[in-house]
Amino acid sequence: MSDKRLTIALAGNPNSGKTTIFNAITGTRQKVGNWPGVTVEKKEGLVDKFGHRLKIVDLPGTYSLTPFSIEEIVARDFILNERPDVVIDIIDSSNLERSLYLAVQLRELGCKVVFALNMADQARARGIKIDGEKLSQLLGVPVVFTVGNKGQGIDELLEKAVELAVSDKAPEHRRNVKYNSEIEKAIEALEKALAPKCGQKENVPLRWTAIKLIEDDRVAKERLRAVLGKDAEPILEEARRQRDYIAGRYNEDPEILTTDDRFGFISGIIKEIVTTSSRQRVDMSRNIDLVLTNRFLGLPIFFFFIWAMFQLTFSLGEYPMGWLETLVEGLAGLGARILPEGLLKDLVVDGVIAGVGAVIVFLPNILILFFCIALFEDTGYMARAAFLMDKIMHMIGLHGKSFIPMLMGFGCNVPAIMATRTLESRTDRILTILITPFMSCSAKLPVYIVLAGAFFGARAGSVIFGIYMAGIILSVISGRLFRSTLFRGADAPFVMELPPYRVPMLKSLVIHMWDRGKVFLRKMGGIIMIGSIIIWALSNFPRDPALQQEYEARRAALAAASGQEVSPRDMETELDRLRRQYEARRTAHSFIGRIGRAVAPVFEPIGVDWRGGVALLSGFVAKEIVVSTLGVLHAVGDEHSREALQRSLRRSGMSAAGALAMMVFVLLYLPCLATVIAIRRETGSTGWMVFSICYNTAIAWIAAFVVYQAGKVCGLG
Ligand code: GDP
Ligand code: MG
Repeated sequence: MSDKRLTIALAGNPNSGKTTIFNAITGTRQKVGNWPGVTVEKKEGLVDKFGHRLKIVDLPGTYSLTPFSIEEIVARDFILNERPDVVIDIIDSSNLERSLYLAVQLRELGCKVVFALNMADQARARGIKIDGEKLSQLLGVPVVFTVGNKGQGIDELLEKAVELAVSDKAPEHRRNVKYNSEIEKAIEALEKALAPKCGQKENVPLRWTAIKLIEDDRVAKERLRAVLGKDAEPILEEARRQRDYIAGRYNEDPEILTTDDRFGFISGIIKEIVTTSSRQRVDMSRNIDLVLTNRFLGLPIFFFFIWAMFQLTFSLGEYPMGWLETLVEGLAGLGARILPEGLLKDLVVDGVIAGVGAVIVFLPNILILFFCIALFEDTGYMARAAFLMDKIMHMIGLHGKSFIPMLMGFGCNVPAIMATRTLESRTDRILTILITPFMSCSAKLPVYIVLAGAFFGARAGSVIFGIYMAGIILSVISGRLFRSTLFRGADAPFVMELPPYRVPMLKSLVIHMWDRGKVFLRKMGGIIMIGSIIIWALSNFPRDPALQQEYEARRAALAAASGQEVSPRDMETELDRLRRQYEARRTAHSFIGRIGRAVAPVFEPIGVDWRGGVALLSGFVAKEIVVSTLGVLHAVGDEHSREALQRSLRRSGMSAAGALAMMVFVLLYLPCLATVIAIRRETGSTGWMVFSICYNTAIAWIAAFVVYQAGKVCGLG
């Protein structure tokens, strides 16, 4: 055992883990008291390690060594006066920038320093990779990674500390903070003035004292007076001159300049040693945000993204949609060929394939839409969108944060309504839940594509975009209305977090997209298929044998006339017309025809015929069913393409105004079953659920009526 006792001081920011490491080193051999004259706790402990008796001192936690607080003065005085053999700086690795500010100052003090990069586990968890070796080389300081609460790295830390303490090499400080040239000149001048007077005095490190004098450090000046007596005055006078000169030159207090330089130095170190740090991400995020949340550019960019999202959904989706349509047609053709004539064939071809096939082709569009929404979420852009919409949302009396569920509503209302859980105030939540169904969900997309495609041709895209905008506008109007009637009062204030931007992981995006895709496919195999079968059955029963006999007789007569009075081509169209007539009469006679006739008066004023009415009714279960029902009701022969459906719609007497009105109605009317259930669950009230159903449907009918009547006037009839 060496007779020399080594003093090791633990310095560091509050909560960097000093006490934890202190306990890990000293165990139970601790002495707790106060620092002389102040009520700051002082902990000391003695241990025998590596052949030395070690006195460990837990210094008060500080962020810097400027004498602003008692803790800072105590820590600094201890280092200056007691001259510990080595100072271990406990650095919070997950908070490197702040921790290094103290580290830089410790090194300026000229004492021997070892860095403990503590919280190494947390830094790792946050994706902060620190090159300890590089740090050690750069600054000439031993570096040890530690996890204080698990006792990892403590022995190595102590070993390095002892090694440094006993080495007689003066601390080798490669690269210290270099201040700007005027300050460096002033430091040099003061060092020169100080050197003859206190060159021998150990507790007055020259460079450090010079810097502190330039910073007008009260405690440092007192210390100088105490050490030098009257000799201090000329030096202090010189320091004042230097200070004034620098302050005049930069129009800034010198201590602010030195702080800036230290942080500049630190960010230089961090650039060198940290590879994928959250700090860099934050910096990059800040730069990206300069553009994306810019006061003038932000909203236009946001609307561009939304526009691009729909553009991508439609135009990119067009290709796989074509392949799926070919597949569905192929299946229908196959079914028609291999199945024997009869009820089963009708069921499969005109029920299941016509219904499910009409909707399933939209799978690619829906996948793309959800991919885009997942992209917004995973990159962190969603929070920016909310931030940007804040002003607009305040018009409704809602916080921008409410916009996130609304944006998600473009995909599917159910997760959107669940996402309102992030809102703190209950009234904000209910209000958001009530207006979210106006965000046109992906299930409504097929209806728009079919109708807009059939009646608006090349302008279909703009029409659909207009429908989406109408949804947003109506949700804003409704929100405003609710806020001033049902939910008086202001929105609850809260902070909008802007997480750093992240590069999204493709895998996560694909998983997200596929999750929604699975939901869609499951619906196809379940509710859509059942719905199609029900609609098919309702439209085929009860059967009218007399009608069928009549049809077959007329067809036979027509066929007999073939080759004589009529050409084969005309024959085709004649047969087609005959069949169409028959189908129309047959369905009119069926259950669905009766239901249709019963509801027709409701839909007639909005330009929707009984088939459209039935489709809209069935859409309550799921919005995709609107199209599958249309598919079944308009099924003719073995043709089941979207084009055939659109042709049939045009021939059914529907007008462009009617189509537009129907789209508006689909946009606004009662939410689907799953959404209704979600509303009930999330508001915890059947009342709000019923309110939502009634309000939406009423608004839908009124809006559709206005659109249809206005459309007729404008010549869309
Ligand atoms: P002090 O203020 O510097 O004395 O910090 P403490 O020693 O009181 O530690 C603050 C908190 O950080 C405590 O809850 C410790 O358990 C925890 N802690 C200390 N070191 C580590 C570490 O390396 N990793 C993690 N995850 N937590 C730590
Ligand atoms: Mg502590």
